[in-house]
Amino acid sequence: MTVSKRAAKATEESLHRIFTIPEAPDSTLGRIEQEMSQNLAGFLGAHIAAKEMALSEIERDFACSEIPEQPTFVSEHMHHLLNKLVAQSVHTSSPSFIGHMTSALPYFILPLSKLMVGLNQNLVKIETSKAFTPLERQVLGMMHRLVYRDNEAFYQQWMHSANHSLGAFCSGGTVANLTALWVARNNLLKANGDFKGVAREGLYQALKHYQYDGLAILVSSRGHYSLKKSADVLGIGQDSVIAIPTDANNKVDCQLLRAKCQELTEKNIRVLSIVGVAGTTETGNIDPLVEMAEIAQQYQCHFHVDAAWGGATLLSEKHRSLLKGIELADSVTIDAHKQMYVPMGAGLVVFKNPSSVAAIEHHAEYILRKGSKDLGSHTLEGSRPGMAMLVYASLHVISRPGYELLINQSIEKANYFADLIDQHPDFELVTKPELCLLTYRYNPAVVQSLLVSSDKKQQDQINVLLDKLTKFVQKRQRENGKSFVSRTRIEVQKYHGRKTLVFRVVLANPLTSKDILTDILAEQIELAQESRNVLPKLISLAS
Ligand SMILES: *Cc1c(COP(=O)(O)O)cnc(C)c1O
Repeated sequence: MTVSKRAAKATEESLHRIFTIPEAPDSTLGRIEQEMSQNLAGFLGAHIAAKEMALSEIERDFACSEIPEQPTFVSEHMHHLLNKLVAQSVHTSSPSFIGHMTSALPYFILPLSKLMVGLNQNLVKIETSKAFTPLERQVLGMMHRLVYRDNEAFYQQWMHSANHSLGAFCSGGTVANLTALWVARNNLLKANGDFKGVAREGLYQALKHYQYDGLAILVSSRGHYSLKKSADVLGIGQDSVIAIPTDANNKVDCQLLRAKCQELTEKNIRVLSIVGVAGTTETGNIDPLVEMAEIAQQYQCHFHVDAAWGGATLLSEKHRSLLKGIELADSVTIDAHKQMYVPMGAGLVVFKNPSSVAAIEHHAEYILRKGSKDLGSHTLEGSRPGMAMLVYASLHVISRPGYELLINQSIEKANYFADLIDQHPDFELVTKPELCLLTYRYNPAVVQSLLVSSDKKQQDQINVLLDKLTKFVQKRQRENGKSFVSRTRIEVQKYHGRKTLVFRVVLANPLTSKDILTDILAEQIELAQESRNVLPKLISLAS
């Protein structure tokens, strides 16, 4: 151990240095920067440890709650970050990590992000963002046009209008969904006569004024949990998000939806919004949006479409019809950080009517003056980074046809993988891909036959064991560090709606090859054999 180490000191001079002087090219940070810009994938591959370390062990490296009294040299700290943090992070861009919606990034994003961070523009007001504000408005316009296809005159009229907005840019799908429902709530319970509106007087007075016994948000049982968070924050209550069962294809059952609307209306519960899901998080299926829009029309409620994950499909001429009816929605959520290959922190919601956002407008004298074009006057978040620049750049560099290729390829790959699973006697495809997401499980052929000939009780017993096997294989595969699929629990109609554990795969990385998919199945078969007590028990049941 070195005893007399040169120590960093917190002096005015040293602080001045870190604000002004770049790290030398041969310093640790300088070398990292070079390595990353020359070969990001190589850098990540070399520095992220393949073997998984127990979280409890990692926690020991992050155990101290004291803020350091002694500064650290940048290079020294970089070593610490590489060893303790980078090494134990997740290789989200690896082509064999096909379990999550967090995607691989194109190369040009890296220098652009540096530019964005360096400029540190704040979109809350034009004083701190200047050209970034019209840029963000343009991005919202482009995404609005992608969904609603209004004419050129419409966009020229509204895109840069001070008192309107075609949408709101935000950190992700959660805030986008919350913003949509916030707009819906404030428009429904708007000022009326002596009543100053829910935004001013709160929900209690609003319900009293409008004489409703409650509000409800209706979404399929596959709806994203961010809707419950939104209902919670908006004072509507999580229990007022009512889950409507789905059909065998994981799409909302419109007959049940209609019946629920009727039932609630008769109970004097006002349906605030019907939410269609365009690409569910667990199975990737798309709700029947045209029919849902009709029901929303009939009950005079807001129609929101949560296309956080699937919305990018609109960029594909070949597949955009899968989202038919999305243009009937009052608002649509799309995450650019999912299938648009932009780094995290890029979500947005677009509104059909450019005046909708007036319902959530906030003004403050020192900032966000009335009539200004400041984007902060109708976003939930205050200070906000220039992430829209990365969406803007991606739309230009990749372009619509480029995105179409990426999306078509992902869907083709998912269909290829589904066939591979379907044709393999020891795998069971649980949900077919509609977009590039599917679920399946390892289930030996003999056990599959046994399930077919079993009654419900026996089926349940077998499925309990299969759940154990799925969990075992998924965990082992993750721990081995070569590849990753995620797991989720979904109701499977074939098994009487039983919540069944399945592997979940999202095939959005363009570098994921057919060979990788074959290898992932082979690894899962191998791992299944390692389950000492589960697989033998299943096989003995079947023989
Ligand atoms: C991912 C997702 C969300 C939440 O988005 P975040 O960006 O994680 O906040 C909401 N809805 C759906 C359907 C999603 O897939």
